[in-house]
Amino acid sequence: MPPDLRLPMRPIRSRHRLTLAARQLWAAPYSLLGLLAALPACALGARLRRSGHTLECTGGQLGRWVQRLPNRHRLVALTLGHVILAVDAPAMQRLRAHERVHVRQYEHWGPFFGPAYLLESLWQTLRGRDAYLANRFEREAYAKGGPFLTKPHDQ
Ligand SMILES: [Zn+2]
Repeated sequence: MPPDLRLPMRPIRSRHRLTLAARQLWAAPYSLLGLLAALPACALGARLRRSGHTLECTGGQLGRWVQRLPNRHRLVALTLGHVILAVDAPAMQRLRAHERVHVRQYEHWGPFFGPAYLLESLWQTLRGRDAYLANRFEREAYAKGGPFLTKPHDQ
């Protein structure tokens, strides 16, 4: 009788769900902030939809206001935990892979991600480098998720 080589599918799936739940819980403080930012955006016409294990908030009046900010301070997209906010749908499409790298960073660092990101930016500034582009979290996001830098303040 040949040995049973079938993989035990149910335990692996359960373990995956457990680790996903743990990662979501670990990043939950930032996801809550993301939801708090998404709610007024949605009240001003933004669209909120689930995409994989993230919530994506795009467009609306808030996005149009952000696009009117001077170029130097303009944010195109921002990730807070499992919530990705973008000024419009094309920006979300262009930056989704990049922002999902940040989601994984939140899942890895949990509540320490914000302080770690800021300390990294401070460290790069003290070294005379760009606080954003030289930041190791951004370098990883660009390397793994793109896009190629065409605008220095895309995030
Ligand atoms: Zn980024």
